[in-house]
Amino acid sequence: MLRISSPRTPLPLKLFKASAIDTQNTLRVRTNSAIEPLPCAPEAIRAARRMMDSHGRTILDLRISITDRCNFRCVYCMEPDVQFQPPEALLSPEEIARLAKVAGSLGVRKIRITGGEPTLHPKLEEIIAGIRQTPDIEIAMITNGSLLTREKLARWKRAGLDRITISIDSVRSDRFSKVTRSTTTPDDVLSGIEMCIAEGLTPLKLNAVLVRDVNDDEAVQLTGLARRFGLEMRFIEYMPLDSAHAWDATKVVSARETREAIEAIFPLTPTNTDDPHSTARTYRFTDGSPGHIGFIAPVSEPFCGQCSRLRLTADGNVRPCLFSTKEWSVMHLLRGGASDNEIADFLIDVTWTKLAGHNISAPTFVQPQRPMSAVGG
Ligand code: SAM
Ligand code: SF4
Repeated sequence: MLRISSPRTPLPLKLFKASAIDTQNTLRVRTNSAIEPLPCAPEAIRAARRMMDSHGRTILDLRISITDRCNFRCVYCMEPDVQFQPPEALLSPEEIARLAKVAGSLGVRKIRITGGEPTLHPKLEEIIAGIRQTPDIEIAMITNGSLLTREKLARWKRAGLDRITISIDSVRSDRFSKVTRSTTTPDDVLSGIEMCIAEGLTPLKLNAVLVRDVNDDEAVQLTGLARRFGLEMRFIEYMPLDSAHAWDATKVVSARETREAIEAIFPLTPTNTDDPHSTARTYRFTDGSPGHIGFIAPVSEPFCGQCSRLRLTADGNVRPCLFSTKEWSVMHLLRGGASDNEIADFLIDVTWTKLAGHNISAPTFVQPQRPMSAVGG
């Protein structure tokens, strides 16, 4: 029987139906078979009205996936035959705005709009404007940069978008189409970069994932973009979050290996100015060139101890960690008549369930069922 093990006000039982992906890692969202009660955070934690976990970390950063759809099929992310959710299963702009407001009241200071490919969403402008209603929030968005125009960027900026991150995994046309399995070219993305800079959606960052024997020889060329545009180029280690479940450790190009390849041409100096909650360790060019390089090393040098992030999936589940095998459905609260206060309690309780860290490198590691594109990278 479903039970909330707390003397405090339990949330209505119906709200917890279809609440979780179970510990056997079976995706059971939207069925009634995987009902699991969400444990309550201690009274003092709930009373503080902050999202704090049982390992002393506080949530400041919410990543919201607004769609699971994408016009790319990056080899490390999404298989060509991936199934997308029907639109009615996704959070509406109003629901996203409401969750942003509740999260803001609990101390969230940064919201990153992600996907899937967020620029495919027909109501992106409305979503940005809705999130903007929450005071004192930085709004960032990550995109593959294929669908940008000056006009769209200007509208998103007017709606409240502060800055953008663009993913680019190759500057070679043949390679780019192999990695993304799209008809977009590197030049399309480069002109998107120029447009973001011209519109002032800065500081602009670029992301690349290097995969062994795919694009692992491009670290230096991609570094050239940081120097050319005076921006931060970040290298993210390939994580076991691909829909093909084809990840294995031999395909990971470690941050250290990437840094050594870059330093053979462009010596780097640590900036030593990174926010402790930041995922990236950043370096400047020793020769004084503009631009920075960031390394995000969740596989070889996990940074879970400083994690300040919570994720919201496009279909309304809160995910305590990228590698969680459990998600908790806030959609059922939103569509079940819950008050803002109940939603806030729910977010506090989910945060309390955050594990100390992931165990990617352990033999017992189980890859989450849902890929990065579904959970909001
Ligand atoms: N479509 C947008 C894009 O590509 O920028 C936003 C969503 S995408 C899931 C967000 C980020 O996750 C991208 O920078 C992408 O490179 C990264 N990503 C996707 N799958 C990954 C994986 N298996 N390992 C590491 N990073 C991954
Ligand atoms: Fe699409 Fe981004 Fe995934 Fe590439 S990484 S398939 S662009 S969601």
